Amino acid sequence: MQVIILGSGSPLPDPGRAGPSTLIRTAAGDLMFDCGRGVLMRAAAVASGAGALRALFLTHLHSDHITDLNDVFTMRWVTSFAPAPLPVFGPGGTAALLEATEKMLEPDIGYRLAHHGDLGWRPSATMTEVARGVIFEQDSVRVTAAPTDHAPVRPTVGYRIDEGERSVVIAGDTVPCAGLDELCAGADMLVHTAVRRDLIEAIGLPRLTDILDYHSSVTDVALTAARNGVRSVVLTHLVPAPAPGTEQQWIDQARAHFDGEVVLAADLLTLDVTA
Ligand SMILES: [Zn+2]
Ligand SMILES: [Zn+2]
Repeated sequence: MQVIILGSGSPLPDPGRAGPSTLIRTAAGDLMFDCGRGVLMRAAAVASGAGALRALFLTHLHSDHITDLNDVFTMRWVTSFAPAPLPVFGPGGTAALLEATEKMLEPDIGYRLAHHGDLGWRPSATMTEVARGVIFEQDSVRVTAAPTDHAPVRPTVGYRIDEGERSVVIAGDTVPCAGLDELCAGADMLVHTAVRRDLIEAIGLPRLTDILDYHSSVTDVALTAARNGVRSVVLTHLVPAPAPGTEQQWIDQARAHFDGEVVLAADLLTLDVTA
């Protein structure tokens, strides 16, 4: 199993960081988790793309995590040579989001159907709203969902991907919580949104300090990993984006509470999950 950070950024546009998205390469195919800004540009860099996805999983419906849903939906369709519904898994509200996305794209769908003689079907998705439990199983790959805590954003879910003996958890945006602990128990790797509480408090802008109560700080992430026996942590969805030369500070903050490996995400960072 391979973990590829497609986007390590946050809602704030950054020239070097696409919006939140992680690709997990498994025996069952490429599994995409969230689809933030620029996700298909990054996927193209690793020879993946909308047409190659086995499934798309959403952690929640905050705009930064779904910015490019319309692009994934459309590119899946126009690069297919037979109907290829996109399997989408997400928390309650995802079905309505997909319906609205399709409606928004209606003019484009009409243009392309009228113009391309060999494109005789509409874009489509198979939609599964998830809350808790095993939601996907194929070959030796299993995906489990559990509720997370990003209140007042509700509902939100995290995911655990197991392939054989190896396991990766996608936390998304959440504070430490029981659902995330369940997913993390004994996991090889935890990919987690991280905010620098110290820097955000120092900046002191109310619009920014607001985010502290529904995200995990670097310390929170480290404590979640330590409490659950996780082997390695990937800090992603970094707020604020690390200034050049400050990367080690993030790692040191986490290492103060966690003995395992800590990695600071960058776009296209690729990690093999091995024994
Ligand atoms: Zn969020
Ligand atoms: Zn977010």
